[in-house]
Amino acid sequence: MSLISIIVPMYNEKEIASYSMEKLIEIGNGLDEEYEIVVINDGSNDETDAIIESFAAENEKIKLISFSRNFGHQMAISAGLDFASGDAVIIIDGDLQDPPELIPDMIDKWKEGWHVVYGKRRSRKGESWFKLITARLYYKILSKLIDIEIPENVGDFRLMDKMVVEEFRNLHERHR
Ligand code: UDP
Ligand code: MG
Repeated sequence: MSLISIIVPMYNEKEIASYSMEKLIEIGNGLDEEYEIVVINDGSNDETDAIIESFAAENEKIKLISFSRNFGHQMAISAGLDFASGDAVIIIDGDLQDPPELIPDMIDKWKEGWHVVYGKRRSRKGESWFKLITARLYYKILSKLIDIEIPENVGDFRLMDKMVVEEFRNLHERHR
C-alpha cells in the first residue's frame, strides 16, 4: 500500500479549519491507500492552530507544522513538501477552494503512471473582475516571457510523485 501525503497550508482559516479537516479525513478514509494530512499553520493569529492541534491530538494521521510568524503561502507549501514522506504528495489550499473530491481521481492517474497531476479551473466563479482580468494578463505575459509551456488557470492543487518532490526539495529559492 502506498502512502499519500496531503499538504494543507492554512493562514487564519478558523471559520473553515474544522470543516476542511473533517472533509479531508473523510476523503482520506475512503482511499485504498494509507494517508497523512500535513497542515502548515503559517503564523495564523486566530484559532487555526488550536483547532488543528485538537485534530492532531486525536488522530495520528494528522500532523501539524506551526510557523512562528507568517511566511507566506509558498513557504508553507515548501515546509510541507520537506516534511511529507508520501509516495505521492497532494497540495490543496486549506480553504478548500479547489474540490477535494477530485483527490481519488488524481491518485488513479498517478497509479496509471503520471508523475504530476494538476487541477485546472474550468471557470473562476465568485472572483472579482479585477482578479479575472489580472489572472488572464498574468498567464498572457508569462507565456510571452518564457519558452516552456505553463498551463493556464492551474493553481497549487496538484499531485506530485515522490520523485518530483525530491527534485523540488533541491530548489531553495524563496520566491517560488
Ligand atoms: N495561506 C498561507 N499563508 C498566507 C496566505 C495564505 O498559508 O500568507 C493559505 C490560505 O490559508 C489558503 C491558501 O494559502 O489555504 C491560499 O490562500 P488564499 O485563499 O488567501 O489565496 P487565493 O485563493 O486568493 O489564491
Ligand atoms: Mg483561496
